Amino acid sequence: MTLISAVHVQKQYQTGEVSVQALKDVSFEIDAASFVAFVGPSGSGKTTLLNMIGCLDKPTDGTLMVAGTDVATLDRKTGAAFRGDTIGFIFQDFNLLPVLTVYENVEYPLLMVQNVSHGDRRQRLAALLAAVGMTDQKDKYPDQLSGGQKQRVAIARALVTNPKLVLADEPTANLDHDTAYRVLDLMKKMRDEFRTTFIFSTHDPKIVNEAETIFTLEDGRIDDAKTKGGDSHGQSL
Ligand code: ADP
Ligand code: MG
Repeated sequence: MTLISAVHVQKQYQTGEVSVQALKDVSFEIDAASFVAFVGPSGSGKTTLLNMIGCLDKPTDGTLMVAGTDVATLDRKTGAAFRGDTIGFIFQDFNLLPVLTVYENVEYPLLMVQNVSHGDRRQRLAALLAAVGMTDQKDKYPDQLSGGQKQRVAIARALVTNPKLVLADEPTANLDHDTAYRVLDLMKKMRDEFRTTFIFSTHDPKIVNEAETIFTLEDGRIDDAKTKGGDSHGQSL
């Protein structure tokens, strides 16, 4: 089942007199429960693309469908509701709230967007903390954790609302290599367990091969020759 389809997507930023074409005719499809990387150097358009898949921004041309919704049709309010129901985010710098414990950080999105009973919440939290191996650390505060532990908490937090899709913009950029591989393995395990689609961006060639589907972005375009396992412009290697 296709979860995301992009057809001739373009994005132009206009800052005063200066315009930047950040995405130039990008087309691809992503299936549900897949593990996908967008790879490319700094400035190639990775964040722009993830922001649009995450309904934080809109294409200036072309069509981007996410879980059956054309992102261009969303306004601020419907966009926020759609994100809350459908998408989890993992950030490069973890973005944990320093005044909340591990448990409270993971619980937070559930309190914001969904009407879940106290008992269900506790069960869900316990299962997720166990899945990311953070049960013993649940009462600690973020500044008592290592970078890898923080990112594991961020993964649990992204999954707590049971999203169809998790977006991670350079989630391993602030981790050493061993930890980066472990974090990606954990995301893959969570994909297997929950059938969540994971899409991450990276400019680190060493971790690229951890993905099953790789789209290579260069200067706002997908380079088909360097695309693996995905369906971009009808081609795949
Ligand atoms: P990456 O995440 O691959 O480093 P980005 O998507 O951040 O690439 O940027 C792609 C291009 O778009 C770059 O040339 C960048 O300078 C430009 N860009 C990104 N965001 C904005 C913005 N808000 N306003 C203007 N230009 C932007
Ligand atoms: Mg970026």
